[in-house]
Amino acid sequence: MSPDNAQTGAKRRTSLAVRLLRIVFSIYLVITVLITGTQMYNEYSLEKAAIQTNLEAYEDIFGQGIATALWNLDDDQLQATLTGVAKLKDIAGVQLRNPKGQSLFTGGSLYEGDTPPILSETGLPTDANLFSHQFEVTYRKRLIGIATLTSSNRIVLEKVKYNFIAILINAAIKTAALWLLFIWAFKRFLVRALEQFTAKLEATTFDANEETTSAINTFNAPELERLEQVYAQMKTRIVEAKTKLENMNLHLEDKVKERTQQTVRQQSLLEAMSFLGRIGAWEYRTDSQGLYWSSMTRHIYEVDDQFEPQPDTLLDFVCDETQRRALESAIEQAIQYGVPWNLELRIRTAKGNIIWVMTVGQAEMSQGKCTRLFGAVQDIDDRVRDQQALIEARDRAESADQAKSEFLASMSHEIRTPMNGIIGMLNLLLNADLQPKERHQAELALASAQSLLALLNDILDFSKIEAGKLDIEAIDFDLEKLFARTAELLSTAAQQNNIELILDLSKLPHRNYVGDPNRLRQVLTNLLDNAVKFTQHGEIKIIVSVVPYNDEYQLVCQVCDTGVGIESDKQKHIFGSFTQVDVSTTRQFGGTGLGLAIVKKLCQLMGGDISLESEPGKGSAFTFSAVLKPSHNGNARALPNSKHKVNVYFENAALSQATCNQLSVWNMEARAMSKTEGTYTPAPYGTLLVEQSLLSTLDQQQLAGFGHVIVVAAANSGGEKDQKKNDENAFQTLYKPLTPEKLYEALIEDTMQASKPANISTSNHEADTNQAQHQPKILLVEDNHVNQIVAKTMIQQQGFDCDIANNGNEALSLLRETDGESPYNLVLMDCQMPEMDGYEATQRVRAGEAGEHHTSVTIVAMTANAMLGDRERCIESGMNDYISKPIEPDRLKKCFEEWLGHHNEDQSA
Ligand code: ADP
Repeated sequence: MSPDNAQTGAKRRTSLAVRLLRIVFSIYLVITVLITGTQMYNEYSLEKAAIQTNLEAYEDIFGQGIATALWNLDDDQLQATLTGVAKLKDIAGVQLRNPKGQSLFTGGSLYEGDTPPILSETGLPTDANLFSHQFEVTYRKRLIGIATLTSSNRIVLEKVKYNFIAILINAAIKTAALWLLFIWAFKRFLVRALEQFTAKLEATTFDANEETTSAINTFNAPELERLEQVYAQMKTRIVEAKTKLENMNLHLEDKVKERTQQTVRQQSLLEAMSFLGRIGAWEYRTDSQGLYWSSMTRHIYEVDDQFEPQPDTLLDFVCDETQRRALESAIEQAIQYGVPWNLELRIRTAKGNIIWVMTVGQAEMSQGKCTRLFGAVQDIDDRVRDQQALIEARDRAESADQAKSEFLASMSHEIRTPMNGIIGMLNLLLNADLQPKERHQAELALASAQSLLALLNDILDFSKIEAGKLDIEAIDFDLEKLFARTAELLSTAAQQNNIELILDLSKLPHRNYVGDPNRLRQVLTNLLDNAVKFTQHGEIKIIVSVVPYNDEYQLVCQVCDTGVGIESDKQKHIFGSFTQVDVSTTRQFGGTGLGLAIVKKLCQLMGGDISLESEPGKGSAFTFSAVLKPSHNGNARALPNSKHKVNVYFENAALSQATCNQLSVWNMEARAMSKTEGTYTPAPYGTLLVEQSLLSTLDQQQLAGFGHVIVVAAANSGGEKDQKKNDENAFQTLYKPLTPEKLYEALIEDTMQASKPANISTSNHEADTNQAQHQPKILLVEDNHVNQIVAKTMIQQQGFDCDIANNGNEALSLLRETDGESPYNLVLMDCQMPEMDGYEATQRVRAGEAGEHHTSVTIVAMTANAMLGDRERCIESGMNDYISKPIEPDRLKKCFEEWLGHHNEDQSA
């Protein structure tokens, strides 16, 4: 409230002082009136009582005289006495009656008026304002009359009149004096203090450095002192708050200044950016219908400063009809519903140049109506052109990539086809009678061709992985068999170096899993190849374990050798591409340095990895892992009921250990014995598993202590001499490497004749029913002449008849011509051929175009196996199996064994 307002407020209302005075005065007045009233009443009562007393006294004074006059019948005397009494000041009226009640005399002012007072029977006046004294008038004790002396309240009042005035004056004087005193004290103490306080408040500026004005006179009154204290505290607080506010204001100013600078900076930055980004602004006001273009917008549209843009001509800039319509409807939508837009348009500028722009716009709405449209336009011509160029480049790259894949496929095919011929021919040559020198040269040529092929395979694999084109398959396969076959394949090379190859498969919970057997084989082969290559003596151990891993399994395989080992600083790089530990080793052993890089990538693709531990001079241990899925194929072996004792007597302790591990899986009581333990004391019963070389350390008597003796021989040791000796002794012979399959057949199957499982592989094939009568017939479908010779020779070496068809067409007619009596048992089908390729031919065979008797003939593809999807294509088109080119005699033999059974065993070389 401002001071003016305060004053007007005070004027309008009664001031505090006046109100206080009024209250005090009113209370005092009431009290004074009460006291004065009481005083006056007392005075009146006393006077009345005094008059009463006087009336009684008049009986004594005048009684005797009245009686005498009455008795004497002295009327004059009586008249004079009674009139005298009636004239007394206290008397209003006198009455005398005889004892009979008859009035003898009345006098005084009371009886003189027109209306005499009403009297009761006893002669007393009934008016309340009158009071009387009655007495008997006796003469010599004889009642002669009754006198009544009457006085009135008026007489009493008349008498106390002056006393009353005095009392009232007294009260008035006292009241006035007290009131004045009160006013003085009030002004003196309270009002002045308040005024001082008000003045002080009015004078305060609340400045921090303001001089403290003189103190208020508090008259030592605690209330006023408290007021002053509170005022002082409040002032301090206000001063503090004010200082703070001032400081804040000061900062605010700084901040505003700073913000302004910032805004200016941003503004110029925005302008610079708009210039760099070629972004122009525009605005359209619906009320004035004015369209504004910023200078950059004008620049983009290539119009001069005089140009005045019009809303309706704006659309004329857009080249394309559909784009124009899109912009039109976008603007409409914005105006009607406030929907923003963002469009890329091709425009023709004022100078006729065609460019791409991006336009964004939005509406400002007020109460459902559009008041303003605003937005920006950006020159995006360069970007759009770049994008178009990029899309073109990508399309080109994609087709180049496609071309590269096709090139890889055809190159692999083209190179493999002649390689197939070279290797096949060299194999044939080596089968012929050759001079030692010629044989040596042919062998060297074969080795070179094989390493060239290996290099080719590695490069193809590596580039496929790099290009992300290598898919990992999920096939149900026999893991045990895979390891056993791979170990068998490499065992010859290992034994040539006199290296023991040990396979421990005792930690496989099942035999079948789902995974990619080909890639696993590739990994294992590579590691084993290296191990054999870099190990001069000792052993190579393959320890495999499969452990449950979530809903899947994790395969962990360790390949340990006792070879040259790898320096620790080289170990880090060993899995990189084209890495070899040292050049001399490379020279000695050959190799591309890609093997381990491929292995690592394959392991990672299979959900695992590979690691290495190695010590130079002591050996290396590569551990790789892969994730496998569970298979629904049981394939479990039947186990013997009773414990069977087996004594294992091998040169190599690790081999003994691995063998015992495997046997104990089958509930057998296996006991290992090494040569270092001295002379072997056989247990009285059970089977003896003894190494060929240790057989001589046992005498006939010792051997006779066993129920069964099995001799274990190296695969390449099959010297006829040893074989004969074993046969003579009727000892069963097992060839290394010792796989679970071989051990099971030798040790358990024999002892469990009753539960011997049926031979699945032979019973599966219909063709076998004819085996006794007919030599299995094979149809070779191949367009390349050299390959025809190579394959045919190999087939014949396996002991089969073979016809040749040059393409799919020929194959179909040959198959058709053959009657149902002697159909073909197996077709070896090349995939890429002129006229009709292998896929189509297979589909037609399956459709019955080669005769009913051939619809389910076994068809094995011969593929280049270079590109992803080859295998799938073969299987999809209806083929049973595939072998990759160049065809190797071993692989072909295995294929025939699998699909035709063992009927070629007698004929095979
Ligand atoms: P390559 O195909 O040339 O054998 P790898 O990638 O398979 O190439 O191996 C690379 C190098 O790692 C080999 O040249 C060899 O020096 C070293 N190496 C691989 N395995 C072994 C091993 N078991 N013992 C010793 N050195 C090895």
